[in-house]
Amino acid sequence: MIRPLICKPDIIDETLAEVWRGGAKNCEALVLWLGQRSGDVTKVVEAYVPDYEARRDQFHVRPDSMRAIMTYLRTTRTHICAQVHSHPGRAFHSHVDDEWAIVRHQGAISLVVPNFGSGLGTAGFLDAVAAFALSATDRWEQILPDTLPAIVRIQDADA
Ligand SMILES: [Zn+2]
Repeated sequence: MIRPLICKPDIIDETLAEVWRGGAKNCEALVLWLGQRSGDVTKVVEAYVPDYEARRDQFHVRPDSMRAIMTYLRTTRTHICAQVHSHPGRAFHSHVDDEWAIVRHQGAISLVVPNFGSGLGTAGFLDAVAAFALSATDRWEQILPDTLPAIVRIQDADA
């Protein structure tokens, strides 16, 4: 069972801004969505850009950066509910993405933005990304595009 994410448009804007920053350097970008549980859903409260290194086809978070993220999660009482990263071309989960995903809990969500987010806006975000969720058997399974808007709910209100 995947816990739906409630995501304000601002979160998407901030995520795309980092994706474009990376794209301008011809590099992948990484954004972590930090959430807080609220009833049956998780509210995404921050689009957090960790300290990471990136190239055209890869990103990497060093162990000391990972520790800084964990400290930040403790102080903000949040958890990583989704990771978002960009690709130079097609959006898919590569073998490396499977292996090096930062989120590892069941139901964790991973979004991959194609073409370094080129030409993408907040409105078309969900249509463009490829989405995956970590299954109980520890496999990244694709979330079908039809069902994605119910799992990543982009809305203004705190409903
Ligand atoms: Zn990737």
